[in-house]
Amino acid sequence: MSRAYQNYIAGKWCDAESGQSSENRNPADHDDLIGTFPKSDQREVNRAVASAKAAFKEWRLVPAPKRGDILKTVGDVMTARKEEIAKVMTREMGKVLKETRGDTQEGIDTAYYAASEGRRLFGHTAPSELPNKMNISFRMPIGVAGVITPWNFPMAIPTWKIFPALVCGNTVVFKPASDTPATATTLVEILLEAGLPPGCINIVHGSGSAVGTPITQHPDVDVISFTGSSDVGKTLYSNAARQLKRVSLELGGKNGMIVMDDGDLNLALEGALWGAFGTTGQRCTATSRVILHEKIHDKFVEMLVERARKLKVGNGLDESMEMGPCVNEGQRGVVEEYVQIGKNEGAKLVAGGCRCAGSQYDKGTFYCPTIFTNVTPNMRLAQEEIFGPVLSVIKVRDFDEAIKVLNGTIYGLSSSIYTNDVTSAFRAMRDIECGITYINGPTIGAEAHMPFGGFKQTGNGHREGGWEVYEFYTETKTVYVDFSGRLQKAQIDT
Ligand code: NAP
Ligand code: MG
Repeated sequence: MSRAYQNYIAGKWCDAESGQSSENRNPADHDDLIGTFPKSDQREVNRAVASAKAAFKEWRLVPAPKRGDILKTVGDVMTARKEEIAKVMTREMGKVLKETRGDTQEGIDTAYYAASEGRRLFGHTAPSELPNKMNISFRMPIGVAGVITPWNFPMAIPTWKIFPALVCGNTVVFKPASDTPATATTLVEILLEAGLPPGCINIVHGSGSAVGTPITQHPDVDVISFTGSSDVGKTLYSNAARQLKRVSLELGGKNGMIVMDDGDLNLALEGALWGAFGTTGQRCTATSRVILHEKIHDKFVEMLVERARKLKVGNGLDESMEMGPCVNEGQRGVVEEYVQIGKNEGAKLVAGGCRCAGSQYDKGTFYCPTIFTNVTPNMRLAQEEIFGPVLSVIKVRDFDEAIKVLNGTIYGLSSSIYTNDVTSAFRAMRDIECGITYINGPTIGAEAHMPFGGFKQTGNGHREGGWEVYEFYTETKTVYVDFSGRLQKAQIDT
């Protein structure tokens, strides 16, 4: 079943003026056409931004708890449509149903959290240094938010951005990834069904250059939230800087998991498999390096390889599958390139390293779970984000070396350590240079009400999730109320 999807601009579903559209196909079965999507450009962006700007005039004045109530309904509608959303998501980007259900649940959790935040959005009151005077700070919406998202969490990531933007009183122009326009469309339908006034949300489908760039350069887009690759993030950031826009960037990662000799190896094994091969390794928080204490190295590698080889790879709509395909041919090409790089660098391939064999794989972009050992910290394999089912194993002598290796990349998103030693656990919490650290858990598993984001080149210091993102989407207004009835001069009338 295929559908002709549309943009939603200024309260109406519409095609692109170009009259052109592109196809969205299932990466597990290229015969399965999910739908066609408009190839939009600057013209649609201009109309969407004008719509969001006009809607902002009224939306900013709706009491925040009332805005939150709409998000509560969004959570309810999403809950009712959870299974349908999960199926569309698996069809369009490939990860297995268990995971697309989780992705949708994260959206639901984010909606309910957003609803509650409508009743907080706290400001401060502080004493004045002068008599008969009161100081207050409170939070105000910024205006039009441009939201640009990747395909790997097609529901969760847009909700992390759009829900807080709306609760804070901003209006939104949303450009989803070209690989996942169907899930994004469902999200817009749900927002409208829940009673969001038209104009507050606008979705424009199309490529990064034709739609994403005009959004970031539009003078009436006041704030931009982007999740995606480091290359695009850097270009976008410098474009936006020319207009001094506020920008949140969530970019790449090269996440490491340390397993110490005192760690629970069976627990670490489950974590490593889930962290490295969940979502076919296409998570910004994927475990792409395991850093093993030399005493357990050989044993752990043996356990890991045995289980990785047995992982069931196939169409994610089949409930028995554990790993789906790469999202598209381009992404599988990147994986193949890095496998070759790893071999050339002298790493030892101990599992996978090839496309899946068998006629059931012919119509999809499948790749086998792949493991390299004998990886040294400075190899490209250990430094660069791959975004596929490729795990590098690095051997270390002790805790200090493990932390040094873990920290030795330009990224700093997620990390984990398996240890039963309290001292090692607390030192890791303090010394790992990452926005997220798991103790005795894999590098994946963020919860909606906690801040999410990375150090170093993973981003530009902002956080999504939890309470912090509500600061990103608001301006602080400071108000001084002088009820003394006379001119009081701060710093002078002391
Ligand atoms: P991407 O190519 O950078 O695309 C991300 C989004 O930006 C897509 O909507 C894309 O549109 C759009 N885009 C492309 N070029 C643009 C431009 N010049 N101006 C504005 N927008 C543009 O990334 P991806 O391949 O979809 O996703 C994988 C990357 O995302 C990985 O590097 C991963 O680490 C990162 N990621 C990070 C996090 C995190 O929270 N840190 C989470 C998930 C993913 P098209 O789809 O039309 O090209
Ligand atoms: Mg892309």
